Amino acid sequence: MDASCQAYPVTVSRSYTVRTYGCQMNVHDSERMAGLLEEAGYTRSATDDSADVVVFNTCAVRENADNRLYGNLSHLAPVKRERPGMQIAVGGCLAQKDRAEIVRRAPWVDVVFGTHNVHALPVLLERARHNAAAQVEIAESLEVFPSTLPARRESTYAGWVSISVGCNNTCTFCIVPALRGTEKDRRPGDVLAEVQALVADGVLEVTLLGQNVNAYGVEFGDRQAFAKLLRACGSIDGLERVRFTSPHPRDFTSDVIAAMAETPNVCPQLHMPLQSGSDRMLRAMRRSYRSSRYLSIIDEVRASLPDAAITTDIIVGFPGETEEDFQATLDVVAAARFASAFTFQYSQRPGTPAADLPDQLPKAVVQERYMRLVALQEEISWAANRALEGRVVEVLVAAGEGKKDSATHRLSGRARDGRLVHFSPGDAHVRPGDVVEVEISYGAPHHLVSDAALRSHRRTRAGDASVAPGRGTGLGLPGFGAPAPLPVTSGCGATS
Ligand code: SF4
Repeated sequence: MDASCQAYPVTVSRSYTVRTYGCQMNVHDSERMAGLLEEAGYTRSATDDSADVVVFNTCAVRENADNRLYGNLSHLAPVKRERPGMQIAVGGCLAQKDRAEIVRRAPWVDVVFGTHNVHALPVLLERARHNAAAQVEIAESLEVFPSTLPARRESTYAGWVSISVGCNNTCTFCIVPALRGTEKDRRPGDVLAEVQALVADGVLEVTLLGQNVNAYGVEFGDRQAFAKLLRACGSIDGLERVRFTSPHPRDFTSDVIAAMAETPNVCPQLHMPLQSGSDRMLRAMRRSYRSSRYLSIIDEVRASLPDAAITTDIIVGFPGETEEDFQATLDVVAAARFASAFTFQYSQRPGTPAADLPDQLPKAVVQERYMRLVALQEEISWAANRALEGRVVEVLVAAGEGKKDSATHRLSGRARDGRLVHFSPGDAHVRPGDVVEVEISYGAPHHLVSDAALRSHRRTRAGDASVAPGRGTGLGLPGFGAPAPLPVTSGCGATS
């Protein structure tokens, strides 16, 4: 970081809030934005509405993402008029895409920064204040690996660790290569040092994060780097759970499956985007595997990890998709028996090659196919969850995962395979970050329920920290498959 990028500590304490949209990479980057602001002297705002600085970490993937952003910015315009000194910053993928257009459409925005220069946020806020003029700064390539920036982590028990950013693939529906650039890999030693630091801090679960995690190593010439990384995580004392998201079927090799099976703390869970079961559609999406290859990976994973929960992403209604193509997707879904699937209706995303393809399908056709896919997947998910009734599972207790917990007097958390479990703690004082074992009494389509007495309860340092004074507990735990406490997008970015 050069001298001009040094942030000046704020002299009078100012509060901030970061509003995050989109994928896990944005959740990860938001933790860095918060960390940078706190290092520069800002404090986290007690409420979202009272912040002196509001940062939007945007997503360019969702349909109408820009309308949503400009709508949110419009809501803030009168608030800002009433509150002199308030600042608004816009970062993330939409900022990288729209750049100065943002201050043209919303002149009350103070700072626009991109995906490659997250580190510049405090200095840009300072400069905007000093110059009393909006600052727009977008870098064309990564300046500082976001993982090396200070972070304000949301969870005491789970952490995201980025191993790479960007992607070398060119899926035609995806904006990521245009906005996040080509793949940049972090050195294994740096990744492991961060994992070790998190564990030393009490974290029990780490999710390795990248747009295409199993291509990891391409930049420094080691095709087996990802498998080696998983195995190295296995030797970190105190690290109980390792997850990763997302792998690309094209790069999925047997050494990764062997590393998953032979490393006890790697969770029996795999989130591997399918996108379509039709080989014709996969070609049109520029995804270089075929459905038979996809299914053979699943077979190999199940042979080594029989209890693995396998989840996926599927896009319905890609341009030119025929009923026959869609039937091929249903066939693969039936054969793969996914534990769950993130299903998406295709929508045109400006800036992606697929947006200009002919044969965009009518909304009604896409909707009808989508409903059929959801119904099939739901049946499969439910059957798989019912099969777990009577089993004892280990749950890492989470904060904020069970929306109805206070009404049902239950707590919630994730099993090792990523499934969401709601359980009754009885009289035990169980905290987020503690680990319990429970017997499953009911398998619902999207979660498991245990109303039996706890089989065991292990208090952890993460649990102590989660209830320590000054620690908020509205925390995020990586979720099932493509984890995020926030709205997850897919078919791009978040997933491969
Ligand atoms: S969908 Fe995933 S693999 Fe394809 S270009 Fe986007 S980030 Fe890369």
